[in-house]
Amino acid sequence: MKPSERPVSRPDSPAEKAAIALRNVSKTYRSGSHIVRALAGVSLAIPTGSFAAIVGRSGSGKSTLLHLLASMDVPSEGEVQVGSWQLGALSRADQARYRREMVGLVFQQFNLVPTMTALQNVTLPLVLAGAVPTGREARARAVLASVGMAHRLDHRPAELSGGEQQRVAIARALVADPPLVLADEPTGNLDSATATQIVELLARINREQGKTVVVVTHHFSEVASVVTQRVELVDGRLAG
Ligand code: ADP
Ligand code: MG
Repeated sequence: MKPSERPVSRPDSPAEKAAIALRNVSKTYRSGSHIVRALAGVSLAIPTGSFAAIVGRSGSGKSTLLHLLASMDVPSEGEVQVGSWQLGALSRADQARYRREMVGLVFQQFNLVPTMTALQNVTLPLVLAGAVPTGREARARAVLASVGMAHRLDHRPAELSGGEQQRVAIARALVADPPLVLADEPTGNLDSATATQIVELLARINREQGKTVVVVTHHFSEVASVVTQRVELVDGRLAG
């Protein structure tokens, strides 16, 4: 099936909670007397179950957009909505709850805890969320197995290749079963063969689990065959 023919709405999936809408969103940063407009009047919709790619030059606002979707930052103007969540108006506590329940994050640098094993890294979000200990580790093992890492449970990040570290990081993003997965240049530190495998893993998560996936990438060609939507930013605005 071509991307355009894929169904993007799956009523039975938890991902129905993850439809994204930005309405006239701007984000301004102030550094000293200097004002930077990272996003300027962006409106867009990303339907539930989409695999969206955010592309654009360095400094075009891609990470800023992802941070808003992760509720790690708030818009200066406009609305950011994910499912029933209005992200501009949340208390700190609700921001934390949103991140815990709704979002799995994947980074270019993997950001695993170096002193912890793969299994401990993936169990950590469940520990931090206060999940009952029973079943935490079994859940983490199952998710690690689903990303092809069942044979590396006791390895620390330094004992894993880049691609393996990113698989562990993806397992960590999935362990609490969030409907939305946000990845900021997840293949930026990987060779092209490994990058292709990581993109295929994210595509499988989108396809089989119905999760909405938003990936920032410098290399659109890596994701062109799997995405349902391409969002291009130029100087903080939508291209075209
Ligand atoms: P991209 O991810 O596309 O490379 P970013 O979203 O990181 O771009 O940044 C967009 C613009 O906003 C850049 O000019 C950047 O320097 C600026 N910017 C990003 N974060 C901050 C910040 N915390 N303080 C000041 N300026 C920032
Ligand atoms: Mg960036």
